Formats: sequence, C-alpha cells, structure tokens
Amino acid sequence: MSLRVLVTDEIDPEGVQLLEAEPRLRVDEVPTLPKPELLARIGDYDAIVGRSATRISEELLRAAKKLRVVGRAGVGVDNIALDTATALGIAVINAPAGNTVAVAELFFGVMIGLLRHLPHATQSMREGKWDRSQLLGSELKGRTLGIVGVGRIGSEIAARAQAFCMEVVGYDPYISDDRFRALRVRRAATLDSLLEEVEIVTVHTPLNDETKGLIGRRELTLLRPGAIVANLARGGIVDDQALMAALESGHVRGATLDVYQSEPLAADHPIRQAPNVVLTPHIGASTAEAQRNVAVDVCRAVRDALLEGELSRSINVASVSLGDGRWREVQPAMLVAQRAATVTRAILADQGLRAVRRLALRCGSALLDAGDLLLSAAAVGVLDGVVETDRLNLINARTLAEGRGLELSVSEAAAAPAYSIEVALSGGMQELAVAGSAAPDGAPRLTRIGSFHVDVTPRQTLIVLTNNDVPGVIGRVGTLLGSAGVNIAEYHQARLAQGGEALAAISVDGGAGADIRRKLLELPDVVTATVIRFQE
Ligand code: NAD
Repeated sequence: MSLRVLVTDEIDPEGVQLLEAEPRLRVDEVPTLPKPELLARIGDYDAIVGRSATRISEELLRAAKKLRVVGRAGVGVDNIALDTATALGIAVINAPAGNTVAVAELFFGVMIGLLRHLPHATQSMREGKWDRSQLLGSELKGRTLGIVGVGRIGSEIAARAQAFCMEVVGYDPYISDDRFRALRVRRAATLDSLLEEVEIVTVHTPLNDETKGLIGRRELTLLRPGAIVANLARGGIVDDQALMAALESGHVRGATLDVYQSEPLAADHPIRQAPNVVLTPHIGASTAEAQRNVAVDVCRAVRDALLEGELSRSINVASVSLGDGRWREVQPAMLVAQRAATVTRAILADQGLRAVRRLALRCGSALLDAGDLLLSAAAVGVLDGVVETDRLNLINARTLAEGRGLELSVSEAAAAPAYSIEVALSGGMQELAVAGSAAPDGAPRLTRIGSFHVDVTPRQTLIVLTNNDVPGVIGRVGTLLGSAGVNIAEYHQARLAQGGEALAAISVDGGAGADIRRKLLELPDVVTATVIRFQE
C-alpha cells in the first residue's frame, strides 16, 4: 500500500523528484490551495510538504486524520500550529540549513549597496543624471562588525567579513568559547558592550520572547553615532519604531532590513521613506540554490520519516540534537526502552496497579545523550494500548503521559553497563523495574525483571510467569503451550534462591491469547502469569 504525499507551494522539482522516485510513495503536486479546498483534501494524505504560503492550522491538522508528517521547505515554522501537531503526534520537519549562504550573501549585497549608495546611483542613472559628487561611499575594510547570534548564518557572515578585512565581534550566550575561537570571532561579554564598540550591527537570532525588541531604543543609543543596523533575521528583533527615530535623528546612519514586524510591509509604512535605508521584501532565502537545497533537504527527511520512521529531523521530537546517524544507532535502545515499559506496565496491571504515577528511566553512559528520546520511547510503551489515539508515537507520548498525571524522569545509571536501560514504574505502594541492554554489536535484550536476571529478546509475544521453584513446572508450561500450538522461541528461568520464588521469561512466536494466561494460572505452582503482545 502506498503512502500519499501532497506537495504544494511550488517546491523545487529536485526535491519533488526525490519523493516521486520512491515507489512506496504516491505524490500529488498542486499549486497553493485555497483553505477550504486544502481542508477538503487533507484527509487523504500521510504527509504534506509546502512553504510558508500554506498555513498548517489547528483546524487543518485536526481534519488530517492520516497525516504523519508536515514538511516545510525553509526554516520558519510560524505558519504551522506546532503545539497541535505535537499533541496529535504529527512530525514537523523543516530545512534550517539550506538557505544559510543565501542570507549571508544578501547581507554583503545590501551592506555594500548601502555604503556605496547603489540604489540611489541606479535611480539617478535612470533619471539621466551623472551624480558622482552625491555618491561618495565608504568601505567595509577595517570596520568593526557586531554579529548578534553567531549560529549558522552569523557564522557564515563572520567568515565572509574576515575576507573583507573587517574586525568581527560576536554576542551569543548559547555557544562555547571554543566555537568563537574556531570562527575567529572575538566574543563580547554582553550585548551592551558589543553595541558600544561596533560600526555595523547585524542580528541573526531566532525571534522569541527573549529576542523580541532585542535592539530597541535603549540599545540603539548605545551605538556609536553614525553606526549602521541590519536585520535580515525576523521582524521585531530590531524595533522598527525605535530604528526609524534613530535614523531620523541621524544617530544611526543607515539601515538595511529584509524582514518586518508585519509582512507584507504596508505600502504606506513610514520606514519605506526613512533616510538611507536599503529595504528588501524578505528575500534572504530567495536564491535558486537555496530553494533547491531546502527542497531536497526537506523531501529527503520527509521520505525517511514516512518510510523508515526516522524522526531525528522532526523539530517536535525531544532530543533532536542527536547528530547524523546517531538516530539509527540508538534505535535498538529505543526499542528496549519501549518494550521494557510495556512489560513493566503489563505486569503491574496484572498485579492490580492500573494508574501508574511515575516513570523513571535510567540509562548507561553511552546512551545518556539520547536520554530524552529513550524517555519518549518508554512513554510510548507505557501508553500503548492504554490511550485511545490513532497516533501514539515519540512525538506525542510524553505530552499524553504528562496529561494523564504521569511524572517522567530520566537519569544516568552510573554504575550500570554503558548500554543499559532501566524503566521503573510506580504508583501507590507498588513499584517494578525492568532493565535491558542495547549494545551496538548485539541484539536488544531484556536482562532483568524486578529482582530476577533474565536474558530474552523482547519480540512478538513475551510471557512472564512467577512460580514456586519446584521440579516439573517448566515441563508443564512447555506442554501446555505446545498443545495450544504456541511455539517457544526462548525460555529463560531465573530464581533468587533454591526452592523459593522463580520467574520465567518466555518469548513465543506469534500471539498468545487471554485463554493461555488463564490456563497457565490453573497449572500447579504457577503464581502469576502475564502475556505481553508487542506492537511490531
Ligand atoms: P541558528 O539557530 O543557526 O542561529 C541562531 C543563533 O542565535 C544561535 O547560535 C543562538 O545561540 C543565538 N541566540 C539565540 N538567542 C540569542 C540571544 N538572546 N542573544 C544572542 N544570540 C542568541 O539560526 P540561523 O539559521 O542562523 O537563522 C538566524 C535567523 O535568520 C533566524 O531568525 C531565521 O529565522 C532567520 N532567517 C531569515 C531568512 C530570510 O529570508 N531573511 C532566511 C533564513 C533564516
């Protein structure tokens, strides 16, 4: 059965071809659709790929009963109801890196345009003039450039600024000294100290509560008289009103903006007439190369999410900071975390504990970087078959679990083997922990159930029995399962002391119904029996 992908908003053909080349996907490419039409069609699709023109609203997501992935060919996801997507378990994937160079190059284009009065020069030439005396410009060389937000774009600008022989100072509290050193950017301790020394300041942070109005009236007055301000990031990081006032007073000599507090910028917006500004209509990413990069990048990630369940590029999965390839490395550990949680919950449920209150995941040092992701996997395991939802997955499991009052935590199991995972569930006076391991060179295993050491692969169906440690139990269980047509793949018997309580972890092929559990419980010396059918 093929999965259906709706591609809209004129995604670059190279990206679309990547999806079309995959026989398991059926791709429909349409122009940007009016809202009612999109709403009527979205129910047929497993994924939608678009740009900012299509709004992925809460209403649309709720109507999209099959939707698993939203792909955005670009960075900004302001057009996507992200919280709703997360709650519904729909992956949201963007393409943050493909347009970095396009923005960095635009910065130098507009900055040189401003310093050399290029818009004015063009206009005066059109008017038949030869206005050289009006067109005395200035150079980048030797000027101090202040970059606020030294991320992808900020770094590219720094590298190019050095080629122009500029002195580069950066302010970014979230990156390390090592990174500043590697970029050869001098680190400013505070935003204020950066503003006080630079001749050109450019912002490249995301827009959020912390950065809204980051460069406002007060900050602009800290700039040296005659400084230049650039905002090619998001409207509102530089306060438009304050900037206009500073331009009019002459304290700020010039400005260049690609983004605005409200877009499209109103035709009569006064900034259009402000002195010495170079304005562009949000074209930072508008190069053929950038459009192709982001299209290919997002289409590849959407394909992998749909066909391989690879969610490392999904911005609404916890712990997306896992680097390239790491997702695949930790997939066996995710399986162990999920299945250990399912086993723990099932055993506790058979003991009468239905309302689990706490899920504590502990993992070995080699898995700690993926701790959040493993916790999401464990949350899936706890809720599997318990919550009524079409989509329970790594994206929404933690939100759903917390919504049911479950406390979740993840920590390092310092003394445990590097690839070990332990899931402990508790509620009231009851607690049970199931542990496993997922070393890169071995199959995922469950290694402990409560105090009992076992060694069993969590596949298809697991039967966990506790029994009195007396002769004959294993034979009777084997006979019962055999006569019911249930094939045993692995049988692991564990005990704490001879003649005491024993536990059996029995992996069986296929399923085993409730009647098997009942019959097992009727056998002499069997104390408890839990049958766990895993989702394959
Ligand atoms: P990025 O995430 O790689 O970098 C952002 C940097 O800002 C990070 O290093 C972060 O640590 C830093 N930062 C966050 N808060 C900060 C604060 N309060 N003070 C200082 N630094 C802070 O992002 P990017 O890809 O470089 O994009 C940067 C901006 O450019 C974003 O706002 C993005 O939306 C925008 N953008 C605009 C266009 C366009 O068309 N004009 C195109 C692409 C990106």
